[in-house]
Amino acid sequence: MTPTQRTRTYWLEHAWLDTHVEPGVALEVTDGTLTAVRTDVGTPPPGAEILRGLTLPGLANAHSHAFHRALRGTVQVGSGTFWTWREIMYSFADRLTPDTYHALARAVYAEMALAGITAVGEFHYVHHAPGGTPYADPNAMGEALIEAAAEAGVRITLLDTAYLSSGFGQPPNVHQLRFSDGSADAWAERCSLLKERDHARIGAAIHSVRAVPADQLATVARWAAERGAPLHVHLSEQTAENDACRETHGCTPTRLLADHGVLGPRTTGVHNTHLTDEDIALLGGSGTGTCMCPTTERDLADGIGPAVALQAAGSPLSLGSDSHAVIDLLEEARAMELNERLRTRTRGHWTAAALLRAASADGHAALGRPEAGTLETGAPADFTTIALDTVRTAGPLPRLGAETAVFAATGADVRHTVVAGRHVVRDGVHTLVPDVPQALARAVADLRS
Ligand SMILES: [Zn+2]
Repeated sequence: MTPTQRTRTYWLEHAWLDTHVEPGVALEVTDGTLTAVRTDVGTPPPGAEILRGLTLPGLANAHSHAFHRALRGTVQVGSGTFWTWREIMYSFADRLTPDTYHALARAVYAEMALAGITAVGEFHYVHHAPGGTPYADPNAMGEALIEAAAEAGVRITLLDTAYLSSGFGQPPNVHQLRFSDGSADAWAERCSLLKERDHARIGAAIHSVRAVPADQLATVARWAAERGAPLHVHLSEQTAENDACRETHGCTPTRLLADHGVLGPRTTGVHNTHLTDEDIALLGGSGTGTCMCPTTERDLADGIGPAVALQAAGSPLSLGSDSHAVIDLLEEARAMELNERLRTRTRGHWTAAALLRAASADGHAALGRPEAGTLETGAPADFTTIALDTVRTAGPLPRLGAETAVFAATGADVRHTVVAGRHVVRDGVHTLVPDVPQALARAVADLRS
């Protein structure tokens, strides 16, 4: 994306300043960065862009598989488990090409911008042509995603994912051949060709302990460490994975990752659902983050992870829409709290401020952007405005805007999204992708046919 090359002023009717709602705030933006934040600005300065409602730092979607969006609404009939859902998911993965994936991801990332998301962590594992033959550009699929994010006006951290085996000691199955580079060394060689750019960071991922053999985990961890890059891993989403890991290695997946140097403050475990007390201590004690994906976890009947205990042990929390059954970070934030209420039959596990931090600053940090997620001088000019005058949000006092945003608003209440100083969503309309619903419908139809 091309940042705005001149100074522009935004006047915020209300702004979330990490701890409280502040009325009348002026932001100055130069070259995509916040260069001044002034409070007590009762009336909009001349020439300022006026943002009515509550402006939050841009939201971070820390876990995405863009192509799963094609499954929305198609896997809700009949019984089943994560594993039966996965078979249908693979049937869509089989059909992706760099062109169709670009079209779908552009539409999905535009949907994210409409929901106030300014950065996405794309956990990307569909690397090669069906059967496993590399494309002429071995990163054609990853490049398609990076380009799609640019066209949709959002930042991306491409978490290029090592996926080498079907299960412990099992080669990739027919669907998974296109995910595999053959070895962690070959994965690293391909990833090293990817270049960062203004809107795109490159990170690493281990699909799971079942998809990367134990003796190759350290190669992926080392690649990320050498670059100071984020490293994500699906962790203990399913009890079957825990059982198979114990059978093969005599330990939990978390212990296996710890023993191979995967845990640490740049690492994020995604889901972290079925953990032992020792696992929680290992994750928290090493500063490894936790990305909760509550709408996906409930959609796939995964279970409820111990997010309260993880955070108390030292694991920062982030949020992701993962399978995109819905794309709404406000819903993810409130679902984390509401799940905990149902489980414990008590309320108030997180404040709205803490939930917004997970949806923003800590999510951006998990994606290798610790400078983002706050409205402070020097931060990137990434922010989103929630309308406080819709049927869902009208009524509460503006000073309760954070509670209103987290516990009542939806992505449909997002009025503006600004990324690197550029107005990507204005008055609820995407400025770069003219008709997002139509773009989604076309891209999904192309994959169905
Ligand atoms: Zn996932």
